[in-house]
Amino acid sequence: MPIDRHRWDVVVVGARAAGSATALLLARLGHDVLLLDRAVFPADTLSTHQIARTGVVQLQRWGLLQTVLDSGAPAIRQVTFSTPAESTTRQIKYKSGVDLLVAPRRYILDPIVAQAAADAGAELRLGVTVTGLHLNDAGRVTGVYGHDQAGTPLDVQARFVVGADGLGSRVARAIGAEVTSSRGDRGAVQYAYYGGIPWPGIELIAADRALTGVFPTHHGEACIWICNPSIDAHQSRRGASSREDAFTTYLDRTAPELAQRLRSGRRTSPVRGMLRTPNFVRQAHGPGWALVGDAGYHRDAVTGHGLSDAYRDAELLAVALHRSLRGELDDTTALTNYQLQRDESLREIYDLTCALASYPPLPEFVELQKRLSAAIDVEAAEASARPTPGDREFAPA
Ligand SMILES: Cc1cc2nc3c(=O)[nH]c(=O)nc-3n(C[C@H](O)[C@H](O)[C@H](O)COP(=O)(O)OP(=O)(O)OC[C@H]3O[C@@H](n4cnc5c(N)ncnc54)[C@H](O)[C@@H]3O)c2cc1C
Repeated sequence: MPIDRHRWDVVVVGARAAGSATALLLARLGHDVLLLDRAVFPADTLSTHQIARTGVVQLQRWGLLQTVLDSGAPAIRQVTFSTPAESTTRQIKYKSGVDLLVAPRRYILDPIVAQAAADAGAELRLGVTVTGLHLNDAGRVTGVYGHDQAGTPLDVQARFVVGADGLGSRVARAIGAEVTSSRGDRGAVQYAYYGGIPWPGIELIAADRALTGVFPTHHGEACIWICNPSIDAHQSRRGASSREDAFTTYLDRTAPELAQRLRSGRRTSPVRGMLRTPNFVRQAHGPGWALVGDAGYHRDAVTGHGLSDAYRDAELLAVALHRSLRGELDDTTALTNYQLQRDESLREIYDLTCALASYPPLPEFVELQKRLSAAIDVEAAEASARPTPGDREFAPA
């Protein structure tokens, strides 16, 4: 697949949450963007998919929330939080411009954002695997190379290369991005889809050493998930005949009322998950390159915050690259600002995530959940107060 454009402003490797959002905003800001992914959409990925209020605010600001709802993702209007002692149901209040939450399947959500990027002028190429980076004599990244599914080579030059290629980021490995914080991988998450019964809203069920949840999603189904210590997840699998048996047995213990309800529905998928979920932050940029999303910052799924992180950081990065491409700031200053803003923005919820993923005694776990909820409200308010890239304030001169 010869791509006969010689030098893009930005090539983005990875076209899911972080990559598509970065490309969308850069394209709306008038830049020449190539967006690549080795997957061919629609394709699922390993992830549950409740979008925290901050991420919903981002979709709303970018004009995509209605498209997500129109895809059949149910608007979620209530959250029930339970412990063995009590249960509290709250309606989702109108805050920061939104009055609902949503948990769309990733094979539907990611193509919506990728298509919006293409509609804004980014060139979207799927089925393209990036295998390496070009560097000039000064050590600056100047492009990427790889191949399409037929094996046809691809060679692209760009002013900036963005690694939005997820946890195993090849871009991060190729440039040797330093890990600036590493806080273990002791948490697990496993999930499956169920149908055939009503889902009144999001449910979070805290028990000793486990958080179990329900995310209503497309096609009348819900994603049922369990987060717990890796050691417990491994142990329950060892004693079971299959991962599905292990999941059901664990549900019986951690969320017996939910487990009982699920018996009148049916499981519609196998059980999937990650038994060791790393918590780390990587250096976010260097000469000619930047990382965004899971490639630069990964955290345990217990807080369900990865999509919101990816959307937030995509916007911070798009604005930084815009300032540099427009000549307002030199590359290093613009990207250093991005890293500072990212690291400042992620800190509180990263700390809370690591604390929750250590599964402290239940009263402390519940207290951390309350702090998480307050932190998300603050973060969502900040997101809704920012000018939206592509609006007049950012329009190219
Ligand atoms: C089990 C689990 C449950 C989760 N639950 C939630 C949740 O409920 N809510 C939430 O907000 N977050 C959740 N997360 C986190 C969320 O899934 C991630 O934070 C999010 O997917 C990050 O998006 P991303 O775009 O950075 O990376 P990814 O979604 O991983 O996308 C990376 C893309 O890069 C592409 N790619 C990789 N390498 C190459 C290459 N060499 N060439 C071309 N393309 C390449 C891949 O094909 C992929 O499409 C969960 C994660 C897990 C694992």
